[in-house]
Amino acid sequence: MQVENKVIDEARQGEQMEMKSANGSKKLFLESYGCQMNFSDSEIVASILVNEGYSTTKNPEEADVIFVNTCAIRENAEARVRQRLQDFKKVKQKNPGTVVGVLGCMAERLKSQFLEQEKLLDLVVGPDAYRDLPNLLEQTGSGQKAVNVILSKEETYADITPVRLDSNGVSAFISITRGCDNMCSFCVVPFTRGRERSRDPESIVNEAQELFNKGYREVTLLGQNVDSYLWAGGGLKKEILTEEQRNVAVNFARLLEKVALVSPLLRVRFSTSHPKDMTNEVLEVMAKYENICKYIHLPVQSGNSRVLDLMNRGYSREWYLERMSAIRRIIPDCGISTDIITGFCSETEEEHQETLSLMQAIQYDFAYMFMYSERPKTLAERKYADDIPEEVKKRRLQEVVSLQHTHSAYRTKAAVGKTYKVLIEGVSKKSSEQFCGRNSQNTTVVFDKENYQIGEYVDVEVLSCTSTTLIGKARGRSV
Ligand code: SAM
Ligand code: SF4
Repeated sequence: MQVENKVIDEARQGEQMEMKSANGSKKLFLESYGCQMNFSDSEIVASILVNEGYSTTKNPEEADVIFVNTCAIRENAEARVRQRLQDFKKVKQKNPGTVVGVLGCMAERLKSQFLEQEKLLDLVVGPDAYRDLPNLLEQTGSGQKAVNVILSKEETYADITPVRLDSNGVSAFISITRGCDNMCSFCVVPFTRGRERSRDPESIVNEAQELFNKGYREVTLLGQNVDSYLWAGGGLKKEILTEEQRNVAVNFARLLEKVALVSPLLRVRFSTSHPKDMTNEVLEVMAKYENICKYIHLPVQSGNSRVLDLMNRGYSREWYLERMSAIRRIIPDCGISTDIITGFCSETEEEHQETLSLMQAIQYDFAYMFMYSERPKTLAERKYADDIPEEVKKRRLQEVVSLQHTHSAYRTKAAVGKTYKVLIEGVSKKSSEQFCGRNSQNTTVVFDKENYQIGEYVDVEVLSCTSTTLIGKARGRSV
């Protein structure tokens, strides 16, 4: 079932992240949960610790420090982390000197309470406090517990070059904004990641250039809402007040163009777009540059305007459909995916049907689908009753999932017979004789290796498909 993949990439949950070439004497075990932003943050954490003489290990029993980078987006994400901490409790019983720390969104949400609830923990560190990790680790060295969950108005880690963990050497993530100012009523992110800040465009372009020089061929620009990227010299986005400042500021369209210009051989992707902020200017830049991938993840959440209003999403069904028409008009071959929540507070059966009818109208390539999970402190928790019974939420989710399966299968079938430019990202998980990569529209393509190399662009003719993957034959290197 295609639930919770990609945005929260199921295959990566609890992934133990390792770097290839560090030889520090102290050992770090780093496990990450949640969205891509967290995985990207783990690379910053690793970079800070490498400078402190650490190398990584995938064996918690030989670690001096165990870090779990946590997610708080839904209750089950937190439950999974709690469960995993039980395993580390056993490690700590065996090796009492091991320092166990939690990082990220759950750390930020629970703060020092976390230390009281989980006695094995030595350290609780929020997403804006990673520079303080060396000091905090020193504190734990003298037997104290350490907490830093201060959220920042400035921190973007712009000057820290992330250590690429478990990298395929071809694609990498670059974080461009931190935090979120949107306050969607269901969402805990504004509380766990703080206010929205944009990162200096020069540092973003430099990072993309360095990656390209090292042989990388794809970067994904990351932010909770990339469309609201705005740089006018640093600080909080909402403090960029004057019209004049806004006119000269670097917005997302301008940033995208700067990164695209690093090299025509560097593919550029981004995630996540927000329907209320996605401008035609961005779509036009996408259409102009071949190396900006023709793929937009545009979370709708619900197809009903009343529910969208309760969710505080800042757009209606009609607005969303209009944005979709703009995408289809300006970038006719664009791949589109979305996020959907079923069973939000007071959602009626008719309103749920409107989500299904919106899906019918759009026919998404993929969707990441969730049942509503009430989160502490959010507007929805304070204002609305979580009144849709679990089995109704579940049944609605099943309906959404099965409709999406039909659409995904329809989309992949429509690709059979076409030829796509594919960037080879690695060896297929199913066969060591095959490579896998993605086309511009973000669909996975597998094909026989022949004499091609990872990191090359090839033209692949699609011969058959499953509901999510295209299977083809390489017809030559792409020019
Ligand atoms: N910033 C992105 C946006 O606004 O589209 C996504 C951020 S969130 C990490 C990813 C997805 O998780 C959301 O789009 C939403 O569908 C889902 N989500 C967030 N809070 C949720 C909740 N309380 N219950 C269920 N799903 C939730
Ligand atoms: Fe959460 Fe909404 Fe911000 Fe996305 S835009 S992170 S859903 S508050």
